[in-house]
Amino acid sequence: MPPETSNPKRQVHVIGGGPVGLILTALLQTMGDYSIRLYEKRSTYTRTRMVKLDTYLIADSVEDYCIDYIDGENVEAVFDRTDLDEGVASRQSIPADLRLLLLDWTLGFCPLNAIEQALSDLIDSRGTGSVERIVGELTAEDALAMVGLDDIVIDCTGSRSLLRDHISPTFSSAQPNLFKVRLEYALVITFLYSQTYVCDEYCKYYKNAENDHYKFIPAVHRTFYDQGVSHVTGIVNITEEEFRAIPSRFDSQWLRDNLPGVTLSMDRFIERIKHETGGEILGETEIVRIPLDLYHARNVTSRKWRGLDGAEHPFVNAPAFLAGDSAIGSPYFQSISLGFECAMFLAGLLGQQDLPLQERFDRYENFMYKQWLRVYMRSKMIKHNKDLFETLDDTFALLEKLHIY
Ligand SMILES: Cc1cc2nc3c(=O)[nH]c(=O)nc-3n(C[C@H](O)[C@H](O)[C@H](O)COP(=O)(O)OP(=O)(O)OC[C@H]3O[C@@H](n4cnc5c(N)ncnc54)[C@H](O)[C@@H]3O)c2cc1C
Repeated sequence: MPPETSNPKRQVHVIGGGPVGLILTALLQTMGDYSIRLYEKRSTYTRTRMVKLDTYLIADSVEDYCIDYIDGENVEAVFDRTDLDEGVASRQSIPADLRLLLLDWTLGFCPLNAIEQALSDLIDSRGTGSVERIVGELTAEDALAMVGLDDIVIDCTGSRSLLRDHISPTFSSAQPNLFKVRLEYALVITFLYSQTYVCDEYCKYYKNAENDHYKFIPAVHRTFYDQGVSHVTGIVNITEEEFRAIPSRFDSQWLRDNLPGVTLSMDRFIERIKHETGGEILGETEIVRIPLDLYHARNVTSRKWRGLDGAEHPFVNAPAFLAGDSAIGSPYFQSISLGFECAMFLAGLLGQQDLPLQERFDRYENFMYKQWLRVYMRSKMIKHNKDLFETLDDTFALLEKLHIY
């Protein structure tokens, strides 16, 4: 095995130019130590769905970082104070051009393609000459074949990760490198509303007063571009049977004809918002059906290949990492922030040229495991609260969901 050298222009392959691959590229680009190849199968960014970035991404202090009332204490329980201090300190080293974008996006819901396009433009506009873009879909075989002896590979290909089952020698398609929990099946109903509208738990309860089934439970926040326009995403829980009966593409008329209870519930909720605030829905209502999964890769680095002298595999020499949805995925508007944070941490590790590879592996695995614990606890808590909320008026159904000791 060749000794690790501090090659000033080491080759990094970032596979997947979604938000996480792009932010990682933008972070590595300014370090000057790496020549980056960014592989993306799409030639244009067209995903218009809105996502919300958490303000912990731009926290200036540990207190700001732990501000979320659902999991502030969990974060302090899982992470050491040194982890938290280092995390906050690393925010200070984010290049100013990128930090400005993050400040903007954390104001409110933002179209995914606006994030992708802005990051992509930022990379191009810097004109460092250190980023080469390759458009086209890679297979796992392509990816493994192109890796040079001392290259670094970062898989940012999202939830259907290209290399998740290749990153460790002990996993295969029969035994995936994945732990997954299906939290629920859901209809996700999204629209823009022309007024500022704040929806706390009382609001969620009273606006669902006549909705015995299919409660419409919204996340409401301003849009990043206009404080007066609210973005509303309601999650309606459905059964697995209902989920399977819904075609992959459908519209609100299909829903009205086939699941009238959902439409009724949504209509009642929206009528009450309008009555209260006198606003209007802007544009089309978007409805998708999705299983809400919570998962993580059991190995997020190739550290187990590294010890296998004599094995014929590129990852014996070339380190590989999973980042973003390739590594951890979660519902309830958390995943992209988690992906950005893991990209910041990984870029920070790669920026420390004197750090031995084994230590980089261990620190990344350790950090990602803590992130997993954090998001697992948070997501289970949200799901539990949702379940209780749905049966608040039915004492016996509520009691059935409680296990106290
Ligand atoms: C309906 C919906 C709403 C959501 N809302 C939110 C939200 O409000 N907040 C939030 O935090 N998250 C939300 N998410 C999740 C969020 O979109 C993801 O967490 C985020 O996009 C993950 O980023 P990523 O870069 O890791 O992966 P992706 O966005 O999946 O990007 C992966 C990239 O890799 C490319 N790629 C894949 N395979 C290959 C290959 N073989 N060769 C080359 N390129 C490849 C893809 O084209 C893609 O560009 C939502 C998701 C859905 C479905």
